[in-house]
Amino acid sequence: MADHDAVIVGSGVNGLACAALLAKGGWDVCVLERNDWFGGAIKTAHLTAPGFLHDVYSAWHPLWVGGPAHAQLGDDLARHGLEYLNTELPTATLYPDGASAFLLRTAEANATELDRHHLGDGEGWLAMLGEFLPNADFAFGVLGTELWSRHGAALALKAVRRLGREGARDFTGKLLISARDWLEEAFISERAHGLLAPWVLHTGLGPDAAASGYMAQVIAVAVQEGGMPIPRGGGQKLADALVAYIREQGGTCETGADVQRVFPKGVRTADGTTIGARRRRTRRASARATARARPPRRPTTPRRRPRRHPPPPMPPRLAPRSHPRRSAASAASPTRRRTRRAGDATTARADHRVDRRRPSSRRHSRRSAEAEPAGAA
Ligand SMILES: Cc1cc2nc3c(=O)[nH]c(=O)nc-3n(C[C@H](O)[C@H](O)[C@H](O)COP(=O)(O)OP(=O)(O)OC[C@H]3O[C@@H](n4cnc5c(N)ncnc54)[C@H](O)[C@@H]3O)c2cc1C
Repeated sequence: MADHDAVIVGSGVNGLACAALLAKGGWDVCVLERNDWFGGAIKTAHLTAPGFLHDVYSAWHPLWVGGPAHAQLGDDLARHGLEYLNTELPTATLYPDGASAFLLRTAEANATELDRHHLGDGEGWLAMLGEFLPNADFAFGVLGTELWSRHGAALALKAVRRLGREGARDFTGKLLISARDWLEEAFISERAHGLLAPWVLHTGLGPDAAASGYMAQVIAVAVQEGGMPIPRGGGQKLADALVAYIREQGGTCETGADVQRVFPKGVRTADGTTIGARRRRTRRASARATARARPPRRPTTPRRRPRRHPPPPMPPRLAPRSHPRRSAASAASPTRRRTRRAGDATTARADHRVDRRRPSSRRHSRRSAEAEPAGAA
């Protein structure tokens, strides 16, 4: 039975990022992937004319590039050939009459673009930013936590402290607005609706679903601030670079390894091989776990209880850059908050569900959570 500190089942971006961060912290990791490629929903292939590469599923990586794992691994991955390209024209919608509407990279440019379709819609965009940006940490906090958890409650408390009881109530109400209602309230032009509504579908919500309006704002702001980064050579380059880095650190990555059983101290694959996990077994790492993961110190003898729900990180560029309507004071405070959170948003737990069930894992996690703060995004 081969033994590793941690076994990660699945080589999607979350599993690979988890493994790479653990490997960076000195863990001996093993990634087992049942497909014959690494990357999960990231796959680049020659599908059409010779010389052309296509991303079969996922292609664009704004959330990855804006996240803490990339902040910690970016330089290492660049050494292994990962280079991101971006654009000033991240997304657009074409209409049957030949018109087009663009989402651009600055608040001013977007206001001007929306005004082009209906004078006054630019004001709607700036008003949205004026409300969204000062509380962007709540937006990403809500995205990155279980609402019915200690951290969910802490987030609610923070909202009440910052906004007051009524303000927090209003904010919660706005969180629940549907995309249709928000778009119709904020913009007259149907081209503005057509530009923003499709992005809601990326979140798995429909335009009439509760909270879809807020999700549309989250994505729209993320696109404005982060653009649409894509690896030169296709999305697969991210998975390739992560695998190369893990192997460079002494880790193991295997394809064709279908995990059928997960035991407390290891896993068994379909061909009957048992692989031991000395420190931790990790089921498919969730996006949330990856967002929180950071390189731990090499584990020794953990002792104390973990903080189970540390604050999630916030994409780096969401502190306002140049919103013209906001006062200097309000422009400064989100940046300060973000800076504090960058130091806070750290833990090495790869799968907190495992931790909850296993006291020894909990003790172990606390030690990891006390390692030095990440250079978070
Ligand atoms: C069509 C499509 C387009 C998308 N476009 C984008 C985009 O442009 N930008 C973006 O940010 N996101 C996009 N996404 C979403 C993104 O792909 C996912 O958020 C991301 O892939 C999730 O990564 P993951 O590691 O959680 O899971 P996955 O990518 O699903 O990887 C899970 C891996 O685990 C493996 N696995 C599962 N069970 C076992 C087992 N028992 N044994 C061994 N291996 C196992 C699977 O084979 C798989 O490789 C898109 C998704 C789809 C489907």
